[in-house]
Amino acid sequence: AILALALAGSALLSCRSAPPQSTLDIIGARGKLIAGVKYDFKPFGYIDDNGENTGFDVEIARYIAKQLGVPAEFKKVTSDSRIPDLLGGKVDLLIASMTHTVTRDNKIDFTITYFEDGQSLLVRKGGNLRGLEDLAGKTVAAVRGATSGLKLLSFQPKAQLLLFDEYPEAIKSLKSGMTDALTTDRSFCISAADDNPDLEVTGGAFTVEPYGIGIRENDSRYRDFLNQVLMQMQLDGTYTQLYWKYFHQPPSFEIQVFPGAGAM
Ligand code: GLU
Repeated sequence: AILALALAGSALLSCRSAPPQSTLDIIGARGKLIAGVKYDFKPFGYIDDNGENTGFDVEIARYIAKQLGVPAEFKKVTSDSRIPDLLGGKVDLLIASMTHTVTRDNKIDFTITYFEDGQSLLVRKGGNLRGLEDLAGKTVAAVRGATSGLKLLSFQPKAQLLLFDEYPEAIKSLKSGMTDALTTDRSFCISAADDNPDLEVTGGAFTVEPYGIGIRENDSRYRDFLNQVLMQMQLDGTYTQLYWKYFHQPPSFEIQVFPGAGAM
């Protein structure tokens, strides 16, 4: 028992003195990158007709894996599960339409911004809802764990929120008339309106949503690496190419490139 205790003691000591393991080492030892991505948020993270993970975020994750020299594996996260999934070690990073907020920064770290959106409204076509002012007394669908629900209430305190776990359920509620509007980032709303001829986007963008890649705290080697990969994507044209592919227009956002970047 004394030996066991001594062993446990020294293990604890060496544990304490060893520098915290970087996620870069975990990925290297495993030989693959496990990326937390959305399955329900087109065009950022969704499943295509062949059952493959696809989308703007998913392709950025694949680019990162390529730079790491390992394959990418995708794990489904939702707006509500993503931070616990990251903290619980289920994924190496979150690239999941996630706005960099100060509140979230208290729990996790973010890379530099790789996309910027704004919150908007999705409504049934032919209705008379045109903007936030029309939502007093109306029921608005939002997703748990997203920034959107509370943000909407701060602009329109007279709206009633109905929260869902995933976006498809929220869309269904809007189509069936259970809710009067759905609120989330505008790019998703535009894509949902493209896929559902009975729906349309209205109200413009009334917030700023800078997207960052989420990682666990205190891992600056990993964060620096990811930031450099993002800058390289901008420099080598991949970012612009992906932007055209998923948003069908010239980029309205550029990843900020720091001096000296691009020599990976
Ligand atoms: N970007 C917003 C957020 O981070 C809404 C999109 C989402 O639910 O991921 O909460």
